[in-house]
Amino acid sequence: MARIVMKFGGTSVADPERIRNVAARVKREVDAGNEVAVVVSAMAGVTNQLVAWCQELSPLHDAREYDAVVATGEQVTSGLLAIALQHIGIEARSWQGWQIPIRTDGAHGKARIDAIEGAELIRRMREIRQVAVVTGFQGVGPDHRVTTLGRGGSDTSAVALAAALAADRCDIYTDVEGVFTTDPRIVAKARKLDKITYEEMLELASVGAKVLQTRSVELAMKEKVRVQVLSSFAEAPGTLVVDEDEIVEKALVAGIAYSRDEAKITIRRVPDRPGIAAAIFGPLASAAINVDMIVQNVAADGTTDMTFTVPKADLPRAEATLAGIKEAIGYAEITADRDVAKVSVVGVGMRSHAGVASTMFRTLAEKGINIQVISTSEIKVSVLIGAEYIELAVRALHTAYGLDAA
Ligand code: ADP
Ligand code: ASP
Ligand code: MG
Repeated sequence: MARIVMKFGGTSVADPERIRNVAARVKREVDAGNEVAVVVSAMAGVTNQLVAWCQELSPLHDAREYDAVVATGEQVTSGLLAIALQHIGIEARSWQGWQIPIRTDGAHGKARIDAIEGAELIRRMREIRQVAVVTGFQGVGPDHRVTTLGRGGSDTSAVALAAALAADRCDIYTDVEGVFTTDPRIVAKARKLDKITYEEMLELASVGAKVLQTRSVELAMKEKVRVQVLSSFAEAPGTLVVDEDEIVEKALVAGIAYSRDEAKITIRRVPDRPGIAAAIFGPLASAAINVDMIVQNVAADGTTDMTFTVPKADLPRAEATLAGIKEAIGYAEITADRDVAKVSVVGVGMRSHAGVASTMFRTLAEKGINIQVISTSEIKVSVLIGAEYIELAVRALHTAYGLDAA
């Protein structure tokens, strides 16, 4: 007997037929004698629709009301799955974040989970073999209002619940058979990985591979939760996220990720003096805008151009923030470019092997793709390129690092 958390993403619960399929999978685990908690996302497309409605009514809407709206998608699927389970004779009930409760901080729209009280769920699993069907993505803040965890947040709900319940496994069911060397929807030759390290998965997630939310990987690594990513439509084994010492043959590059979610800002002719970076990035940080890639070009005349990227969704606020400090800083102008994309190669093998970055630059040069910004970490190289080249770049790099399936 094991205690497991099963998480089902939007495509897995997209309609009643698929919810029935999910219920059958849950039943299998219960019949095998396991204690089961399930975390569900909203039906595919529902969260996007809810976000769009908030946006339509007011672009700079109240984040607390945004949460009140977008949390509803998961409420529907948790109730429906509980109904489907009961219908096939499985004892089950739905739980919303506030009912458990899943306590978060007050950062509406991108809240972090602080604590989950798992005792009652465990008691019900043990005593009446009840399956808890928990809404992903949502919790309750210090103000007693519903919060949400940021897009893709149900993965984090699942891992956090697995930690709180001391579960043996956290199975993340999605619409692909596991974690691949790159997005299998872009590269047909992408290969499924049997195992990937927490560190590589964390890096891949943070640079755009949306198969797991970044925070879920962070949390799994910290709490030592055994995460498996697998398909809810196939029977094949998925990908295990593991510690580095569990991987025998380490590839130089584990995977390639891309993101179209960033925009590039250039501030022209900034006076080149100490403290200038702090004067620019301090106010952006205070406005809770995450700056990612940064380059500074020094000109001969004592000024400099500063180029960096921010999430596309934050571009209007970033521009407003920078306009507000124009006088104080004394730059000439700001330009913004939304038609950019970031492609990253990730692998722990980079620590001990040189040449990964140069292979990347050469491969992109051969395709005539211009690199606008570069950033690196110990196990990652990222470049910013024109958005129109992204698929070409990912495919070419996938081949260049020998990742193509035979
Ligand atoms: P869910 O709704 O189940 O949470 P997501 O859409 O959030 O599913 O994540 C799964 C998607 O992630 C896949 O359909 C795939 O297109 C994308 N993806 C991006 N990079 C990868 C990768 N390296 N391996 C697997 N899937 C990836
Ligand atoms: N429904 C939410 C979203 O679309 C959470 C999730 O699916 O993980 O972002
Ligand atoms: Mg997801």
